[in-house]
Amino acid sequence: MGPEPTVEVCALKYGKRWAYSLDIDDMPVTNYTVSFPLLSGYHFTDAPPGVRGGNRKPFVGNAAVFSSHVNPADEIYNSTLLCWAQIQEMCKAGWAVANHAYSHADYGLTEEQMRNEAYWNQVLIAWHTSNTLAPNYFVYPSGDTAYRPFLKDYQLLSGGHVGEPVSNIHLKDFDWTDLKRIFLDEDEWSKTDDPYHQFPDPIQDGDVVVDITHGMDVEPNHPNRIRWERRLSMIQSLYGEGGADDMWSASIDEIVAYDIARRTAAVDISDNQLTLFLDENAPASPITLTIAGIPESVHLEAPEGGFLYRNKDVVWVTTPSLGGPVGSPLPTPNVRCIYNGPVTDLDWPDAIELAGVRVLQYDVEKGATLSIAIVTLNGAVVEVGSCGASSDAEWKLFSSVPNKSPWSAKGLRVVGNTEAHKKMEIWVVEGEASS
Ligand SMILES: [Zn+2]
Repeated sequence: MGPEPTVEVCALKYGKRWAYSLDIDDMPVTNYTVSFPLLSGYHFTDAPPGVRGGNRKPFVGNAAVFSSHVNPADEIYNSTLLCWAQIQEMCKAGWAVANHAYSHADYGLTEEQMRNEAYWNQVLIAWHTSNTLAPNYFVYPSGDTAYRPFLKDYQLLSGGHVGEPVSNIHLKDFDWTDLKRIFLDEDEWSKTDDPYHQFPDPIQDGDVVVDITHGMDVEPNHPNRIRWERRLSMIQSLYGEGGADDMWSASIDEIVAYDIARRTAAVDISDNQLTLFLDENAPASPITLTIAGIPESVHLEAPEGGFLYRNKDVVWVTTPSLGGPVGSPLPTPNVRCIYNGPVTDLDWPDAIELAGVRVLQYDVEKGATLSIAIVTLNGAVVEVGSCGASSDAEWKLFSSVPNKSPWSAKGLRVVGNTEAHKKMEIWVVEGEASS
C-alpha cells in the first residue's frame, strides 16, 4: 500500500488559476449583435492547466439589465436595446443576466426605493428567463454602492462597480459585494489606445478580471473593435486554448456560486469512495476536486453527470451542479403575473392581494398623466400611483411589496390612459393562505 491520496477542493472550477468575465451594461442591442458572437469566437477548455484534450468552451459574460426598459420587441418601438428573446438566447449559451436595478435608479434613494428596485428586477429577470431562478449578481447603477446593505435580502450575493485593482478571491478581506470592474467605454479607452488597459500583469492566482463596457462598436474596422479583438486574442493565446489554459471564463453568477460553495466544502475518503459535503445553505454549484497520489493503474469513475481528467497520479474531478442549477431562489414575497393585456379597468369576483401593476408606455405626450387606483374591499377608490410623459418605451411600476403589505383589491381603475399606454400587467402575492 502506498500513502493515502490527498484531496483538495479547487479554488476555481476545472482547477483553473484565475477567472475572466465581461459585463455589458444597460442593454445595448450590440450586446447580442456584436459582443455575444465576438466572445463566442474565443475559447478555453474544461481541462486543468497543463492537461491537453479538454472540451472547448467559449468566453462568456453578463448582460446588466434594468427591466423597465428592456425592448418590448413584439411591437414597433424605436429601441436600440436588447429584447428578452435575445437575452434568453445568450443565457442558453452560458451568459447570465445581472440585476442592474429595475429602472437604473441611482444616488439619493431611500432604503425603500432601493429595495423596490432590487426586488422587482429579480422578479422580472426570473420571469423572463428561467422562471425559477434569479441572478446572484447586482451591478450598482452608476456605481451607487448605497444598495449594498440590501442585496442579500434578495439573494444577490455579489455587487460590481468600476474600481482598481482587480479583485482576488484569495485576499483576506475579499468581498463579493465589492467586485471591481475595468472600465472600457470607448470615450475613456480611446485615450490610452492600449488594448491591455488595466489588465493585471502578472496575473495572480485567484484574480477575477471583469471588463465592463456599455457597448462595442458595430463597425468591424473601428479602433474599438480592433482593440477588443487584440485584448481577447491576448487572453486566449496566453491563458486560454492553445496557451496555458489556466483561465475560467464564466458568468459572474457561476463564479460567485462556485466560490461561496467551495468555501463550505469538506471531503472524506473512506471505503474506496470519495464523499463531498457542502453546507446546506451554500449556493448550488459544480465543484472541482484535485486528488493526488492515485496510481495510474487504479480505475476511477467520475460522478454521474460529472467528468474527470488525469495526469500521471493526479486526478481532477468536476461534479455536476450540486443542489440544482446555478442561480438564486426567487425573492420573497413570491409573486406571479395574473393579467397581461390592454390598459383598462378590471374587476375581480374575489379580492386579490395586489403586489404591483406595470404599464408599458411609449411616446407619451407632454403633460399627459396616467393614474392607477384600486377598488378596496369596502368599495373605496384609492389612487396608488401616477406617472407622467416619457418618450422611451418604458414599463412603469406601481408596487406595494416588498416594502408594504400587498393591496387587497377587488378592482382596478385607470385614469388618463391613451394610445401611448400599450399594455398592463397585474402581479399578485402568491399562495398566501388567509387565516
Ligand atoms: Zn448602467
